[in-house]
Amino acid sequence: MTLPRLVFATRNPGKVKEIAELLAAQFTVVGLDEIGCHEDVPETAETIEGNAIQKAEYVKTHYGVDCFADDTGLEVNALDGAPGVYTARYAGPEKDANANMDKLLDALRNESDRGARFKTVIALTSDEGTQTFEGLCPGAIALQRSGADGFGYDPVFVPDGATSTFAEMDAEEKNRISHRGKAVRAMVAKLKNGG
Ligand code: IMP
Repeated sequence: MTLPRLVFATRNPGKVKEIAELLAAQFTVVGLDEIGCHEDVPETAETIEGNAIQKAEYVKTHYGVDCFADDTGLEVNALDGAPGVYTARYAGPEKDANANMDKLLDALRNESDRGARFKTVIALTSDEGTQTFEGLCPGAIALQRSGADGFGYDPVFVPDGATSTFAEMDAEEKNRISHRGKAVRAMVAKLKNGG
Protein backbone atom coordinates (compact mmCIF):
# COMPACT_ATOMS: atom_id res chain seq x y z
CA MET A 1 0.00 0.00 0.00
CA THR A 2 1.32 3.42 -0.89
CA LEU A 3 0.67 5.99 1.79
CA PRO A 4 -0.33 9.53 0.83
CA ARG A 5 2.51 12.03 0.97
CA LEU A 6 2.44 14.98 3.33
CA VAL A 7 5.04 17.72 3.05
CA PHE A 8 6.49 19.47 6.11
CA ALA A 9 7.65 22.95 5.04
CA THR A 10 11.06 22.72 6.69
CA ARG A 11 14.66 21.84 5.86
CA ASN A 12 15.37 20.59 9.35
CA PRO A 13 15.74 16.78 9.06
CA GLY A 14 15.32 16.39 12.85
CA LYS A 15 11.88 18.03 12.72
CA VAL A 16 10.81 15.88 9.73
CA LYS A 17 11.95 12.67 11.43
CA GLU A 18 10.09 13.45 14.65
CA ILE A 19 6.73 13.97 12.91
CA ALA A 20 7.32 11.23 10.31
CA GLU A 21 7.54 8.71 13.15
CA LEU A 22 4.28 9.91 14.73
CA LEU A 23 2.40 9.67 11.42
CA ALA A 24 4.14 6.59 10.01
CA ALA A 25 0.92 4.56 9.75
CA GLN A 26 -1.01 7.24 7.81
CA PHE A 27 1.44 9.33 5.74
CA THR A 28 4.88 9.47 4.25
CA VAL A 29 6.15 12.78 5.63
CA VAL A 30 8.86 14.52 3.59
CA GLY A 31 10.69 17.86 3.82
CA LEU A 32 11.08 20.64 1.24
CA ASP A 33 14.23 19.22 -0.38
CA GLU A 34 12.40 15.99 -1.26
CA ILE A 35 9.86 17.90 -3.40
CA GLY A 36 12.56 19.94 -5.14
CA CYS A 37 11.75 23.14 -3.27
CA HIS A 38 15.13 24.77 -2.75
CA GLU A 39 14.14 28.44 -2.57
CA ASP A 40 13.44 30.32 0.66
CA VAL A 41 9.77 29.94 1.52
CA PRO A 42 8.45 33.41 2.38
CA GLU A 43 7.60 34.15 6.02
CA THR A 44 6.83 37.84 6.03
CA ALA A 45 3.54 37.89 7.95
CA GLU A 46 3.10 39.96 11.10
CA THR A 47 1.95 37.12 13.35
CA ILE A 48 3.15 33.63 14.21
CA GLU A 49 -0.10 32.18 12.88
CA GLY A 50 0.21 34.26 9.70
CA ASN A 51 3.71 32.93 9.03
CA ALA A 52 2.67 29.31 9.48
CA ILE A 53 -0.26 29.79 7.09
CA GLN A 54 1.88 31.70 4.58
CA LYS A 55 4.50 28.93 4.44
CA ALA A 56 2.00 26.06 4.12
CA GLU A 57 -0.08 27.83 1.46
CA TYR A 58 3.04 28.82 -0.53
CA VAL A 59 4.02 25.17 -0.85
CA LYS A 60 0.47 24.07 -1.72
CA THR A 61 0.14 26.80 -4.37
CA HIS A 62 3.57 26.33 -5.98
CA TYR A 63 4.00 22.56 -5.69
CA GLY A 64 0.39 21.30 -5.57
CA VAL A 65 0.98 19.08 -2.53
CA ASP A 66 -0.70 18.84 0.86
CA CYS A 67 1.56 20.53 3.36
CA PHE A 68 1.95 21.70 6.92
CA ALA A 69 4.25 24.37 8.34
CA ASP A 70 5.10 25.48 11.85
CA ASP A 71 6.11 28.78 13.37
CA THR A 72 7.09 29.53 16.95
CA GLY A 73 7.56 32.68 19.00
CA LEU A 74 8.37 33.68 22.55
CA GLU A 75 5.89 36.16 24.06
CA VAL A 76 7.17 38.02 27.13
CA ASN A 77 4.64 39.77 29.41
CA ALA A 78 6.82 42.71 30.40
CA LEU A 79 7.66 43.33 26.72
CA ASP A 80 4.00 43.40 25.64
CA GLY A 81 4.32 40.07 23.87
CA ALA A 82 7.66 40.75 22.16
CA PRO A 83 9.77 39.31 20.62
CA GLY A 84 6.81 37.27 19.24
CA VAL A 85 7.07 36.91 15.50
CA TYR A 86 10.64 38.33 15.68
CA THR A 87 11.88 35.69 18.16
CA ALA A 88 14.54 34.16 15.89
CA ARG A 89 15.94 37.57 14.87
CA TYR A 90 15.37 39.46 18.14
CA ALA A 91 19.02 40.63 18.34
CA GLY A 92 19.55 40.89 14.56
CA PRO A 93 19.32 39.08 11.23
CA GLU A 94 22.11 36.65 12.18
CA LYS A 95 19.55 34.78 14.34
CA ASP A 96 22.23 34.26 16.99
CA ALA A 97 20.83 32.40 20.02
CA ASN A 98 23.40 33.80 22.46
CA ALA A 99 22.89 37.38 21.34
CA ASN A 100 19.11 36.87 21.57
CA MET A 101 19.37 35.63 25.17
CA ASP A 102 21.72 38.47 26.14
CA LYS A 103 19.28 41.01 24.74
CA LEU A 104 16.34 39.41 26.54
CA LEU A 105 18.12 39.17 29.92
CA ASP A 106 19.16 42.78 29.55
CA ALA A 107 15.63 43.93 28.65
CA LEU A 108 14.26 42.23 31.79
CA ARG A 109 17.08 43.35 34.15
CA ASN A 110 14.80 45.59 36.22
CA GLU A 111 11.52 43.75 35.68
CA SER A 112 9.75 41.89 38.47
CA ASP A 113 7.29 40.20 36.06
CA ARG A 114 9.39 37.63 34.20
CA GLY A 115 6.38 35.68 32.88
CA ALA A 116 6.50 34.50 29.26
CA ARG A 117 5.16 31.79 27.00
CA PHE A 118 6.22 29.95 23.90
CA LYS A 119 3.60 29.65 21.20
CA THR A 120 3.70 27.29 18.23
CA VAL A 121 1.19 27.37 15.41
CA ILE A 122 1.04 24.61 12.81
CA ALA A 123 -0.92 25.32 9.61
CA LEU A 124 -2.11 22.34 7.57
CA THR A 125 -3.21 22.97 3.98
CA SER A 126 -5.01 20.53 1.71
CA ASP A 127 -7.65 20.71 -1.03
CA GLU A 128 -10.21 21.27 1.77
CA GLY A 129 -8.48 24.46 2.89
CA THR A 130 -6.21 25.46 5.78
CA GLN A 131 -6.60 24.62 9.45
CA THR A 132 -4.36 25.62 12.35
CA PHE A 133 -3.25 23.93 15.58
CA GLU A 134 -1.79 25.85 18.52
CA GLY A 135 0.48 24.78 21.35
CA LEU A 136 1.23 27.04 24.32
CA CYS A 137 3.88 26.58 27.00
CA PRO A 138 3.63 29.14 29.83
CA GLY A 139 6.68 29.81 31.98
CA ALA A 140 9.19 32.45 33.03
CA ILE A 141 12.52 33.88 31.96
CA ALA A 142 15.29 32.90 34.39
CA LEU A 143 17.74 35.46 35.81
CA GLN A 144 20.62 33.74 34.03
CA ARG A 145 21.37 30.82 31.70
CA SER A 146 21.36 27.23 32.99
CA GLY A 147 21.85 23.98 31.10
CA ALA A 148 23.45 22.95 27.84
CA ASP A 149 20.82 20.95 25.97
CA GLY A 150 18.25 22.15 23.44
CA PHE A 151 18.49 25.26 21.29
CA GLY A 152 17.35 28.88 21.02
CA TYR A 153 16.15 30.31 24.33
CA ASP A 154 16.13 26.95 26.17
CA PRO A 155 18.82 27.95 28.73
CA VAL A 156 16.71 30.89 30.00
CA PHE A 157 13.17 29.44 29.82
CA VAL A 158 11.67 27.74 32.90
CA PRO A 159 8.26 26.20 32.07
CA ASP A 160 5.50 26.50 34.68
CA GLY A 161 5.61 23.67 37.20
CA ALA A 162 9.32 23.00 36.58
CA THR A 163 12.36 23.99 38.62
CA SER A 164 14.82 23.76 35.74
CA THR A 165 15.16 25.34 32.32
CA PHE A 166 14.32 23.56 29.05
CA ALA A 167 18.09 23.25 28.50
CA GLU A 168 18.38 21.12 31.66
CA MET A 169 15.70 18.64 30.50
CA ASP A 170 16.11 15.69 28.18
CA ALA A 171 14.29 15.82 24.86
CA GLU A 172 11.48 13.52 25.99
CA GLU A 173 10.70 15.55 29.11
CA LYS A 174 10.71 18.80 27.12
CA ASN A 175 8.57 17.34 24.35
CA ARG A 176 5.92 16.26 26.84
CA ILE A 177 5.22 19.83 27.95
CA SER A 178 6.53 22.00 25.14
CA HIS A 179 4.56 24.29 22.83
CA ARG A 180 5.77 22.35 19.77
CA GLY A 181 4.92 18.98 21.32
CA LYS A 182 1.37 20.16 22.08
CA ALA A 183 0.78 21.61 18.60
CA VAL A 184 2.18 18.51 16.88
CA ARG A 185 0.01 16.18 18.99
CA ALA A 186 -3.08 18.27 18.18
CA MET A 187 -2.41 17.97 14.44
CA VAL A 188 -1.55 14.27 14.63
CA ALA A 189 -4.79 13.55 16.57
CA LYS A 190 -6.80 15.35 13.89
CA LEU A 191 -5.06 13.54 11.02
CA LYS A 192 -5.54 10.17 12.70
CA ASN A 193 -9.24 10.99 12.88
CA GLY A 194 -9.28 11.40 9.11
CA GLY A 195 -8.24 15.07 8.89
P1 IMP B 1 10.88 28.34 14.59
O1 IMP B 1 9.63 29.00 14.08
O2 IMP B 1 10.67 26.92 15.04
O3 IMP B 1 12.03 28.50 13.63
O4 IMP B 1 11.28 29.13 15.93
C1 IMP B 1 11.62 30.51 15.89
C2 IMP B 1 12.61 30.81 16.98
O5 IMP B 1 12.00 30.62 18.27
C3 IMP B 1 13.85 29.92 17.00
O6 IMP B 1 14.85 30.44 16.20
C4 IMP B 1 14.26 29.97 18.47
O7 IMP B 1 15.01 31.13 18.73
C5 IMP B 1 12.94 30.09 19.18
N1 IMP B 1 12.42 28.80 19.63
C6 IMP B 1 11.46 28.05 19.03
N2 IMP B 1 11.22 26.93 19.74
C7 IMP B 1 12.03 26.98 20.81
C8 IMP B 1 12.25 26.09 21.90
O8 IMP B 1 11.63 25.03 22.04
N3 IMP B 1 13.17 26.49 22.80
C9 IMP B 1 13.86 27.65 22.69
N4 IMP B 1 13.73 28.48 21.69
C10 IMP B 1 12.81 28.16 20.75
